[in-house]
Amino acid sequence: MKYPLIIGNWKLNGNSSMIYNFINELNQKMLNINRCKISIAPPTIYLDRVKKMTSSKIKVCAQNVDINISGAFTGETSIEMLKETGVEYVIVGHSERRIYHKEDYDYIAKKYSIIKLFNLIPVLCIGENARENATGKTEEICKLQIDTILKNQGIKAFRNAVIAYEPIWAIGTGQSATPLKIQTTHEFIRSYLAKKDKEIADQLIIQYGGSINIENAIKIINQPDVDGLLIGTASLNATVFSRIIQLVENNNKIN
Ligand code: PEP
Repeated sequence: MKYPLIIGNWKLNGNSSMIYNFINELNQKMLNINRCKISIAPPTIYLDRVKKMTSSKIKVCAQNVDINISGAFTGETSIEMLKETGVEYVIVGHSERRIYHKEDYDYIAKKYSIIKLFNLIPVLCIGENARENATGKTEEICKLQIDTILKNQGIKAFRNAVIAYEPIWAIGTGQSATPLKIQTTHEFIRSYLAKKDKEIADQLIIQYGGSINIENAIKIINQPDVDGLLIGTASLNATVFSRIIQLVENNNKIN
């Protein structure tokens, strides 16, 4: 049984007092959560603090990693450092890094491979922009982004991995994709990978991300090929984030 994986991506938000209050509330509210898998992705500087404060139910996720292990790479954080800190998941290919940091397909593939090499779990973000959505190119773009990993590392790279379908036009806009669009795209992703290896495609966690909130979370998680949620804005408030997790935990899909 695949239990829903819910990750909160804080992006460039948070400070010491926010973390103190947030994690205390989350630890408390997760006491009755036994089936959902939960993770928080704070800014790098707070990974260690969040790891030390969270109960064992809450895993820590990094928002980024460098392609190098050590050396003269000012400002970067290596996979070894993340591993030593107790990180389990690493987000890679987020559209904000593709756009603002000009990370291209090959660079993302290198990051993905270093995450796998050190046995951490990559959360590969893929998805189309507004123009591509309007011109019906969603599947073509997702395929292209998946192919970069397949070409370099083969289908085995998707064992014990997560793909997050995050349409760029839905991120932080308050306009989520419809449940139908989400299911159609997730089904496409899984069946595309199943052509290479059905067992790997079946075990793959495919999350949706893009303007998830308390109102739309259940309709989205109830889609057959949605295995989890990647949440940005709504993960910055412990009460809202916990509520979404509680709704998913009590939902029919996993009962
Ligand atoms: C994200 O950036 O990963 C995200 C899903 O953000 P939001 O929930 O704010 O749309």
